[in-house]
Amino acid sequence: TLQDKLDSVFKKLRGQGVMTEDNIKEALREVRLALLEADVNFKVVKDFVEKVRSRSVGTEVLQSLAPGQQVIKIVHDELVLLMGGGEDNSLDLAAKPPVSIMMVGLQGAGKTTSCGKLARYLKSQRRKPLMVPADVYRPAAIEQLKTLGRQLSIEVFDSSSDQKPVDICANAIRYATLNGFDTVILDTAGRHQIDDYLMDELDAIKRAVEPREILFVADAMTGQEAVNVASGFNDRLDITGVILTKLDGDAKGGAALSIKAVTGKPVKFVGLGEKLDALDVFHADRLVSRILGMGDVLTLIEKAQATFDTKEAERLQQKLKKNQFDLEDFRAQLQQIKKMGSLESILGMIPGVGKAMKQMQGVQPSEKELKRIEAIIDSMTRKERADHTVINGSRRLRIAKGSGTSVQEVNQLLKRFSEAQKVVKQLQKLGPKGLMKGMKG
Ligand code: GDP
Ligand code: MG
Repeated sequence: TLQDKLDSVFKKLRGQGVMTEDNIKEALREVRLALLEADVNFKVVKDFVEKVRSRSVGTEVLQSLAPGQQVIKIVHDELVLLMGGGEDNSLDLAAKPPVSIMMVGLQGAGKTTSCGKLARYLKSQRRKPLMVPADVYRPAAIEQLKTLGRQLSIEVFDSSSDQKPVDICANAIRYATLNGFDTVILDTAGRHQIDDYLMDELDAIKRAVEPREILFVADAMTGQEAVNVASGFNDRLDITGVILTKLDGDAKGGAALSIKAVTGKPVKFVGLGEKLDALDVFHADRLVSRILGMGDVLTLIEKAQATFDTKEAERLQQKLKKNQFDLEDFRAQLQQIKKMGSLESILGMIPGVGKAMKQMQGVQPSEKELKRIEAIIDSMTRKERADHTVINGSRRLRIAKGSGTSVQEVNQLLKRFSEAQKVVKQLQKLGPKGLMKGMKG
């Protein structure tokens, strides 16, 4: 990770007194590469590195911080600042209802999905949202939103693809006023690229509806072109904020930096999956940690806190301390993991866990497999569960018979388990100290 690289770069610096142009050159090069790797726009990177350079030069090399941490700290703080850390990036819905939110962006960015997520979020905030399908071009776009509405029990305005989007939106506002909806979410059409026709249409909707928020929905996977697209939308529509989607994938989210740097508009939410609850309020520091390759420990802890059974976590923590992760724990773990969502998305948030994750592949079971695994573990004796090394050939046969499975399946499970044991050991070693503490709450 960047941290490791900088650590070694800065080892040389120890005792040199102050940072100079010369002795931070290498470190800045690493920072530059890390940002480019995270898909931050090259111009943004250039400006940024310049800023860090001027802030670093002349600074004393502290003995108390590990040397690499010092530049990381400066880089981190500057990035958080750039991302709007500390600014208020909440939705501005303080107006006479119905207040409207307009979603804009390229096709496939996640507008329709984000409409559903946002409506769900607003409902949880005791608001009464109405969703409005105004994408009349893409086949089945209206139906897509209606399906989300049914899943969420949130009303979707009745529109059809032979109407003009601007009329649909204007009618929807009237409907909302008459029927007591306080928030109207407009799902507009996208294109593969920015074009004038689309922009004119969006502009017409904006004039007709005067939305309080215009949220530009951006795919986190978008690379260098994110800047052009975002400024294209911002120049025409004067967006009020950004939703960064698909941050559950491999993308580091550098696009968010570029967009914020170029438009000056805050990221308000991030999308973390296809499911409708996969929406998080944006935290600048977390995104920055992710971009710098420091993992997203905070998000992990929160997520784990929300789903982990506290007692179970405490028990597990005790066992981990004594290095006694056994098959009983494995079974409990699998159940917890299922509750937490995709294993990979969770492990991906822990610093340096990439390697462990590869080993873990195939450890996450399907519903059916989970049942089988449980049956197998249930057929073991207490002793076998506590120490799997005693399970020899004849025991395997007995367990297979007892659980209605095959010896092969028992072998497979034991293999998985020892892999999981390895991962657990690695996690302990990496151990962000607060991790288990965080889970305890
Ligand atoms: P639109 O064309 O902008 O309305 O995009 P959609 O909402 O139809 O989304 C396009 C695809 O991206 C769909 O398959 C969504 O399930 C998926 N998608 C949207 N948001 C996310 C997200 O945060 N994470 C992931 N993994 N997929 C997402
Ligand atoms: Mg759509």
